[in-house]
Amino acid sequence: MVLVLALALMASCREQVDSTTTGSEIQAIFPQGQKGPAEYFTGNAYNYGLVPADSTYTTLIGNVYFEPGARSNWHTHPGGQILIITDGVGFYQEEGSPKKIMRKGDVVKCPPDVKHWHGASPDTGLQQLYIVPNTEKGIVNWMEPVTDEVYNKE
Ligand code: MN
Repeated sequence: MVLVLALALMASCREQVDSTTTGSEIQAIFPQGQKGPAEYFTGNAYNYGLVPADSTYTTLIGNVYFEPGARSNWHTHPGGQILIITDGVGFYQEEGSPKKIMRKGDVVKCPPDVKHWHGASPDTGLQQLYIVPNTEKGIVNWMEPVTDEVYNKE
C-alpha cells in the first residue's frame, strides 16, 4: 500500500515536471506584448518592455517571446546585450561561430558590436529576457534576415 502511494506520488510529480519542460507549453512570466515588425524578425516574435532606457539607468530591459521557428535578423548592440532564458529552447549565433542552444536558466552575453542573432528552436518557443546596457552608445543596429539555410544548419 505504501509502495503504491509512493509510486503514485512519483508519477504525479513527473507529470508536473514534464508539463513545464517539454512540448510547446512553455511558461510566460510577463504579458506577451507587441508583435515585432517583419522588417526585423522572421516569424512571430513579441516584445514586452519592462524598463525603458533613460539617462539615469542607461539600460533597456524587456522580454521577447519567440514562437517556434521565429528569430531576429542579424544585428549588433553598440553597448552589448545580456539574454536570460526563462523558458523554452532557442538558438544564439555570433557571425563566424556555430549556433548555440539556449535553454531555461541560460545567461548569454552578446559583446558590443558583435554581429549575431537569436530566436526559438523549430519545435519549441523561447521566452527571453533581454538587458541592453550602455544605451547612451545606442541600442541596436538591424541587418539582414537569417536565412533558412543558416537557421537550419547544425
Ligand atoms: Mn541581440
